[in-house]
Amino acid sequence: MNVYDSDHIAYILLSLGYNKTDSYESADLIILNTCSIREKAEEKAFSFIGRLNKLKKKKPDLIIGIGGCVAQQEKEKIFTRMPYVNFIFGTHAISHLPDIIKEVKTGAKKVINTKFTSNIHENSNFNSFNSKQAASKFVTIMRGCENYCTYCVVPYVRGKEISRRPDAILKEINLLIDSGVKEITLLGQNVNSYGKKENLCSFPQLLSMVNDLHRIKRLRFTTSHPKDLTDNLITSFKDLDKLCNHIHLPIQSGSNKILKKMNRKYTVENYLNKIDTLRKRCPDIAISSDIIVGFPGESISDFNETISLIKRVEFDGLFVFGYSDRQNVPSSSFSDKLSEKEKNRRLNALLDIQEKYTKKKNSVLVNSVQHVLIEGFSKKQKTKKTSDKFIQWSGRTSSNKIVNFKVENNSKFNDCYKTGNIVEIKIEKAFSNSLAGIPLHE
Ligand code: SF4
Repeated sequence: MNVYDSDHIAYILLSLGYNKTDSYESADLIILNTCSIREKAEEKAFSFIGRLNKLKKKKPDLIIGIGGCVAQQEKEKIFTRMPYVNFIFGTHAISHLPDIIKEVKTGAKKVINTKFTSNIHENSNFNSFNSKQAASKFVTIMRGCENYCTYCVVPYVRGKEISRRPDAILKEINLLIDSGVKEITLLGQNVNSYGKKENLCSFPQLLSMVNDLHRIKRLRFTTSHPKDLTDNLITSFKDLDKLCNHIHLPIQSGSNKILKKMNRKYTVENYLNKIDTLRKRCPDIAISSDIIVGFPGESISDFNETISLIKRVEFDGLFVFGYSDRQNVPSSSFSDKLSEKEKNRRLNALLDIQEKYTKKKNSVLVNSVQHVLIEGFSKKQKTKKTSDKFIQWSGRTSSNKIVNFKVENNSKFNDCYKTGNIVEIKIEKAFSNSLAGIPLHE
């Protein structure tokens, strides 16, 4: 979500006449788009803003703006803590940036806009403005969340749930396709409840409309709340040819007691039923999830239930986070907090268990032929030189696994290998986080 918002901010700045710099030290204007979902991200944001003080002393005309979730949450407190900041804008105020910057440039000392609005300011153009050579792009289909999981700041910093109109979404996707994008990921805090409040179409209907766009090659979505994963949506994986066979379905805990305390509104049994149905209808589907360890009151037996769940599901990938108190959310006042040491112990234990399953799932693909959407050069291949014997590429399978492969430079097949092309790769090796293979033409 922040990447998408940052692209919007960059588009506005470019249209105001600003250009990108290679380093922030040489900038005339610095905007930090912040995230407060985890304690670490917030700490990093404040530490970076702190470093800007030195730069501002050297360059008094430098304009500094803070946006995103931390700005929405802290509001004027940022001015008190960091008086050299010129403006603060909340998660709903991105489209007001031209006015805010104008006010600062015409002499206003401190400008702030953290108001929530009940409508979405539509701008379908900005996403394709900067998407040259991108194989894949995010498209936000809704904003905010009203699920109020007890540990989460999103409803407080992103506001109430609101969905974009399908025609605006399709227009944005068509512009992205015109600029060469091949894969679209529909984005929202809980895409499964898309359109419900506004009585627009359902999420499976929206997926079907996007799937019908001829020039799009692949379609993904994130994030899904398990309670809203409907039978129709599960069937979409079978029916829609462009919908990739991967779903990220955050479980958060394997204990019903903890899920209740988290206000997740589903049980482990509901979740497992949905996993079984997904696998029955779409046997190749890859499933990833999120887990929070060390939620207040998580006993050893709750934690063991989470281990059992991981062993039962055998996720393709798992993101594990240690619980941290976020400001003003209900769980911050819960008793029975765990020590950092114990949270880390549990976190590492889950990562160790999961590693085995990730490797197992990746190993199954060895010797298979995968359709890989090339995303660009691999990490090892920073640039392409004519003297290179091989060019190393990186891409993704439909099941969202990273595949690295190399192609002989200057071979007659070179034209087949470029960002945005889908190529056939025979998988030869499986690692914990990626696969390696050879292009089939060879
Ligand atoms: S559904 Fe996701 S975004 Fe919404 S409150 Fe729960 S964790 Fe936060």
